[in-house]
Amino acid sequence: MTSDVSGLIKRDVILKPYTTFKCGGPAKYFSEPSSVGQIKDLIDWAKDNGISYTVLGLASNVLISDDGFDGLVIRLGKEFSQITVEDLGSSMRVSAEAGCPLALFGKKCAENSLTGAEFACGIPGSVGGAVFMNAGAYGGEVRDFIVSVTYLKGGQICEISGADCGFGYRRSIFSDDPGAVILSMTAELQKGNKEEIDSLIAELKAKRIASQPVDVPSAGSTFKRPEGFFAGKLVQDSGLKGFALDESGARVSPKHSGFVVNEGGKATASDVIKLIEYVRNKVREDSGVMLEPEVRLIGGDHKWNL
Ligand SMILES: Cc1cc2nc3c(=O)[nH]c(=O)nc-3n(C[C@H](O)[C@H](O)[C@H](O)COP(=O)(O)OP(=O)(O)OC[C@H]3O[C@@H](n4cnc5c(N)ncnc54)[C@H](O)[C@@H]3O)c2cc1C
Repeated sequence: MTSDVSGLIKRDVILKPYTTFKCGGPAKYFSEPSSVGQIKDLIDWAKDNGISYTVLGLASNVLISDDGFDGLVIRLGKEFSQITVEDLGSSMRVSAEAGCPLALFGKKCAENSLTGAEFACGIPGSVGGAVFMNAGAYGGEVRDFIVSVTYLKGGQICEISGADCGFGYRRSIFSDDPGAVILSMTAELQKGNKEEIDSLIAELKAKRIASQPVDVPSAGSTFKRPEGFFAGKLVQDSGLKGFALDESGARVSPKHSGFVVNEGGKATASDVIKLIEYVRNKVREDSGVMLEPEVRLIGGDHKWNL
C-alpha cells in the first residue's frame, strides 16, 4: 500500500525562483523530501497515480517551460547535503549527498588539502546535477574523481562504480534514465599543497568572473562545445554577440557569446527558446554547424532539434 504523502506535496509551485535562468511556470506537484524513504514514497505515489516525475537540484542547467511541469518535481536540497571524509593516507575519500552544492564539495576538498576538485568550486549546481551532467570546467570533470554513485531505481538503492557511469561530455548513464534519482557520490582525491590548491581556486574564479556573465540569470553555457569548434566563437562569428530579438530580456551575452542570458529575469522561457533557436539556425546557415543545447528543457512541448 502506498504511504500517505499528502503532507510532503505542495500544489502549483512556481519554479522560476528556484532556477538560475529565472523563468518557468509551476510544478503541478512539488516536494522537497528529507529522507530516502520519502523519495521512495513520492515516486510510488506518482507511479500509482500515473503522474510523471522529475528531479531537480539547484536548477542551474534547466529551462523550465512557461507552462511548468505537469507532474511531480522532487527537489533535493539542504536535507541531502551531508559531506563525509575518510583519510586513506596519501588520498582521501569524500562522499557527498546529491543536494550538496558542488562548490561546497570543492571547498571541503580544498580544506582537506585535496587536489583535483578546484574547478568544482565555480560550478553553481548540486552534486546530483553534476553527476547527471558530468559537470566540468577548465580541463576537469567530475568523472576524474568519482569512484562510485548511489542512486534510487525501482524502489532499490543501487551503487555503481564511476567507471560504469557512462560519463561523456556533459552526460552520464543517468542522462538516458530520467527515472533514477542520484542520491550521493563518493570521490577519491590525492593530497596536495593547500596553498597551491587555494591559489588555483582563486585563479579559476577570477577567470570565470572576467569572462562569463556570472551576475546575470542564465543556465551557464547554452550550447555544448561542438567537436573542433567553440560554440561562443561560432555565435560571435555570426555577428550575434550581445544580440537580442526583442526587448524581452533574452539576449546573447555581450560578455560571452556562448551564454544566452535573461536580463533582469524578465524573459519568459518561450522568449529564451525563440532566441536559442534563432541563434542555432543562424550559426548553421553561416558555418554549417548545428549547435546542440546543453541546457535541458523541463515541461512543455518544445524539443531541441538535434
Ligand atoms: C553561471 C553558470 C555557470 C555554469 N558553469 C558551468 C561549468 O563551468 N561547467 C558545467 O559543467 N556546468 C556549468 N553550469 C551548468 C550547471 O551548473 C551544471 O550542469 C550543474 O551540474 C547542474 O546541477 P544542478 O543541480 O543545477 O542540476 P539541475 O539543473 O537541477 O538538473 C540538471 C539535470 O540533472 C537532473 N538531476 C539533477 N539532480 C538529480 C538527481 N539527484 N538525480 C537524478 N537527476 C538529477 C535533472 O533532472 C536535469 O535533467 C553553469 C551554470 C551557470 C548558471
